[in-house]
Amino acid sequence: MKLLEIQAETVLIPLKQPFKTALRSVDCIENICVRITTDTGHTGLGGAAPTAAITGETVPSILGALKHINDSLSGMNIEDAEIIFQKLNACMIGNHSAKAAADMAVYDLLGKQYGLPLFRLLGGTAGPLETDMTICLDSVEKMVLDSLEKAGQGFGILKLKVGNDPALDIRRLMAVRKAVGPDIKLRIDANQGWKPKEAVVVVNRLIKEHVDIELIEQPVPAGDYAGMRFVRDRVDIPVIADESVFTPADALRLIEMKAADGINIKLMKCGGIFNALKIAAIAESAGLTCMMGSMMESSLSVTAAAHLACSRNVIGACDLDAPLFCSVNPVRGGIHYRASTLTLPDGPGLGIGSIRSDSHPDTLSVF
Ligand code: MG
Repeated sequence: MKLLEIQAETVLIPLKQPFKTALRSVDCIENICVRITTDTGHTGLGGAAPTAAITGETVPSILGALKHINDSLSGMNIEDAEIIFQKLNACMIGNHSAKAAADMAVYDLLGKQYGLPLFRLLGGTAGPLETDMTICLDSVEKMVLDSLEKAGQGFGILKLKVGNDPALDIRRLMAVRKAVGPDIKLRIDANQGWKPKEAVVVVNRLIKEHVDIELIEQPVPAGDYAGMRFVRDRVDIPVIADESVFTPADALRLIEMKAADGINIKLMKCGGIFNALKIAAIAESAGLTCMMGSMMESSLSVTAAAHLACSRNVIGACDLDAPLFCSVNPVRGGIHYRASTLTLPDGPGLGIGSIRSDSHPDTLSVF
């Protein structure tokens, strides 16, 4: 099976509600759907989400990178998968979300080549997975209402976005914990919004007030590994690195600096499943835990993330709720949600039937 051509198209996806964090607020996302065609008539599917504030990638940059990747991979044989992934990573610096889309399309083809769902190809079991549900950054009252609503819908783990005002963040978290009661797990994600000393003050105040928190994600700016270590040394809950870790080399540096207890792996940050597997192996070897996360992505690329999460025991937590924010599903098949329970398709590869041409009238086809 030879790779012929990468085709890409953008899809506009209005969100059901604005997605707000300490870094950004969006009410509509653009994702890029990728097809890799082969000489055998098979099609591999992948997706990319431009998240300029985090990865530096935009729709035009991803489309340009995919064109370059197309020129690099065209004609390669799917059975030389290791060489394909090495070439994908070496053909250009950065551009991890574009690479992720191509990477997952190649994995989709590998599954189709061997007739196995991707999680099986990677040695995993079928799941199911349990995802948390994100509660966006907002007023105390709105975050309480949203938390009650999601808990009432059956979500047992809430991930609260904070990080724009330490004093207000304490009030938000105390009010949510009081409203939802003791049985709902609360994760917090500051999206780089606190200074190290602020993070320590907030978390220790929460502990003092008996606000039980499962973990804290990315309390300080991405590049401040020393600040992350400062927080980790002074609080009694796990500190998870998100924006701090893009690549396997970042994971090694994080571990060397003892800066976190775990890593939130996202395909858009690391360049796809090939590199995500390396990060998971590095984390497991060093005794860290992993969370499987995503950007604001459709179920196309989140299905790939779910396959990966099912394939590695070290990935013990999932933050794969992004498709639940989307008012449009651009694919047929793929993952299925029932409240927080996420089940995988059992078809070969990603298990996605096709990209729905009827779902996105604003589609822009390119090369
Ligand atoms: Mg995060």
